[in-house]
Amino acid sequence: MKKTAKIVVALLLAMVMVLTMFAAVACDNPEEDPCKDGHRLKAVQRKEATTEAAGYEAYWECQDCHKKFSDAEGKNEIQKPVELPQITGPTTLTYNIATIADDNEWANSTGYLEFPTGDTHLTITAAGTPVKAEYGLNTGKYYENGENWRFYQNENCTLTFTVGTGYKLVSIKITYVVKNGGILQVVDGNTVESAATYEVTTAQQTTCVFTCGQTGTASNGNFQISEIVVTYTAA
Ligand SMILES: [Zn+2]
Repeated sequence: MKKTAKIVVALLLAMVMVLTMFAAVACDNPEEDPCKDGHRLKAVQRKEATTEAAGYEAYWECQDCHKKFSDAEGKNEIQKPVELPQITGPTTLTYNIATIADDNEWANSTGYLEFPTGDTHLTITAAGTPVKAEYGLNTGKYYENGENWRFYQNENCTLTFTVGTGYKLVSIKITYVVKNGGILQVVDGNTVESAATYEVTTAQQTTCVFTCGQTGTASNGNFQISEIVVTYTAA
């Protein structure tokens, strides 16, 4: 190879090296971040879950860096869209109070207002107003004597069943003991005999509320639940 050719090759090599270095520097340079002045976010519509496939919550994706965000302002970055689980057919859950008390270490004569359903779609809650503040609330208390969960008429007790978005209640069966005439009653509706399966109405499909009715003239009725069976399905 001639001397001039060698010089040309050397010069070309040097140029390639310099250009390569420059490119590397340019890539790492934060000044070149395409999103330095903010992301160009594009909304991706929520996709409902079906019985065929899972869906996802709406999210926003940057058209330049492709980062994903759960909000339109691009403040909360997420790795992937929040999944909406695939909808399954009717689900029936049976809760025996003795088993629930055992599994959750319920203590005797102690109030439990949030029932441990162990299910992501179903919530069961107890509520009421103490007859006198100093008495405290008796509704929602668990008693070892009878292994049951109690609800009191004179505390305007409520027992509420709720299912999450995408689901609806189908039926509720509550096995209970009547005390002092206390009977399970749909709020502003009919009484329900112990262990009768109550089919919820259209209006009650996401939330169904019961209280303690009275079969006689007593004012201190209560009902004592030993088992709850709930069926819900995809809305
Ligand atoms: Zn971006």
